[in-house]
Amino acid sequence: MSLYKQYPVSVHNTLSKQKELFKPLSEGKVGMYVCGPTVYSDVHLGNVRTFLSFDIVFRYLTFLGYKVRYVRNITDVGHLVGDADEGEDKIAKKARLDQLEPMEVVQKYTNGFHDVMQLFNILPPSIEPTATGHIVEQISFIQQIIENGYAYEVDGSVYFDVKKYNEDHPYGELSGRNVEEMISNTRELAGQEQKKNQLDFALWKKAKGGHLMKWPSPWGEGFPGWHLECSAMSTKYLGQDFDIHGGGMDLKFPHHEAEIAQNKGCSNHGGAKYWIHGNMLTVNGRKMAKSEGNGFTPEELLTGNHKLLERGYSAMTVRFFMLMSHYASTLDFSNEALQAAEKGYKRLMASVNLIDKLATPGTGNVDAKKSEEFKGFVEKALLDLSDDFNTAKAIASLFEVSSKINTYYQSPSELAQIDKSIFEYTVGVFKDIIHQVLGLKNEGDGGQDGELLDGVMNVLIELRKQAKFSKNYALSDKIRDDLKTVGVQIKDEKGGEMSYTID
Ligand code: AMP
Ligand code: ZN
Repeated sequence: MSLYKQYPVSVHNTLSKQKELFKPLSEGKVGMYVCGPTVYSDVHLGNVRTFLSFDIVFRYLTFLGYKVRYVRNITDVGHLVGDADEGEDKIAKKARLDQLEPMEVVQKYTNGFHDVMQLFNILPPSIEPTATGHIVEQISFIQQIIENGYAYEVDGSVYFDVKKYNEDHPYGELSGRNVEEMISNTRELAGQEQKKNQLDFALWKKAKGGHLMKWPSPWGEGFPGWHLECSAMSTKYLGQDFDIHGGGMDLKFPHHEAEIAQNKGCSNHGGAKYWIHGNMLTVNGRKMAKSEGNGFTPEELLTGNHKLLERGYSAMTVRFFMLMSHYASTLDFSNEALQAAEKGYKRLMASVNLIDKLATPGTGNVDAKKSEEFKGFVEKALLDLSDDFNTAKAIASLFEVSSKINTYYQSPSELAQIDKSIFEYTVGVFKDIIHQVLGLKNEGDGGQDGELLDGVMNVLIELRKQAKFSKNYALSDKIRDDLKTVGVQIKDEKGGEMSYTID
């Protein structure tokens, strides 16, 4: 039986605003589209969080046995400064400032983006299409929307007619907005006189004099609007209907709302069945963003070379820090949280390293209940992951496995009671979740530190056993209490054995 049948996934669909049972359109296959970066600057840690959230979705669905086609685009044209329909193209502006070809800017930051994804062990998608590589598809998408009566041309530019569309389909269903209210709340913006209505958005913009990134079209030379590429490319690679569309929460409106309208305006199909939105990484409650000056780059993070950082942190520590919260909750950056994550990550890795050093399980009187209890922790972790990809809860279950492994190492008599095949299954799934699903790599130092800690703890445990044996309870208590103050708990097991756990 496929694992996905055993552990059915539920997803919080931001379109229906409900948690729903995930049922792909085609049995065993998943089509997923995630909005990628606009490649005009270095990615910051906030961007990393969003791509990591969908890396988990991709990894987990694949782990469960789905055949996933994951499309994540590169926006290399059409995203204008200010995110609306006026102003310079972000990439063209950067090219002007740095005296580069726009495509040099694109290449430079695409390479940088890939390096960062690799650093954080975020898997590449199955297809990574670019907006400039799909101008033909975007033009025919626009033609179809015009033909259906939901777009109009004015002097070489084409706009989506939101009011007209709203007569047939609700506009605002994703973001929960109402067209009438939006109209009464919008100001007349300079430079937008061509639009019939302020809510209308550009599908194609006429290239004015000196514009570098432009292509011929039925409406003259120009370039596509920002929202269009995602509609055209998701349709091309995943079809008019597909399973999952993801992105950061900040893209819900107008970007994703516009995408749905474009799709329905073109083919009467809305695109994705399930919409998933990742929440923001914040700093002191404010969204991390380059423009806020609080968006440090991965390099600054590793070196600690930023005013907000007390010191550097490893890529896996940061990955673990992000996975310790659910993707749909905000996550506030802090040095304390990163330090706690570092401890947790090392603890988990230390127990992975310990597995090979354990004695043989099941050599004594096998206790079925204890064996099932051990297995129960990884089953719980899988159920947590199937519950809307809840990595935070799954990690808590993994810590239970980790502390059992420590116990089994300290007291082989406990391990002797665990059924061998249950033990092997459990530690196998434990490792798979850590490496394949959570994408945590052993950075090496976690393992060495873990070994060192175990070595030191074995010495202390031995001393405490001797103190107890010679009835020097003052000393045995002191060892226990002093360790407690530094966050290590000594547990007295049956038969005089002792184990330890770290808070
Ligand atoms: P951009 O290159 O600006 O289009 O952003 C790429 C992705 O990063 C989008 O999905 C954004 O939603 C996401 N993003 C931007 N800032 C943050 C943040 N502070 N936290 C999480 N995701 C973010
Ligand atoms: Zn998009």
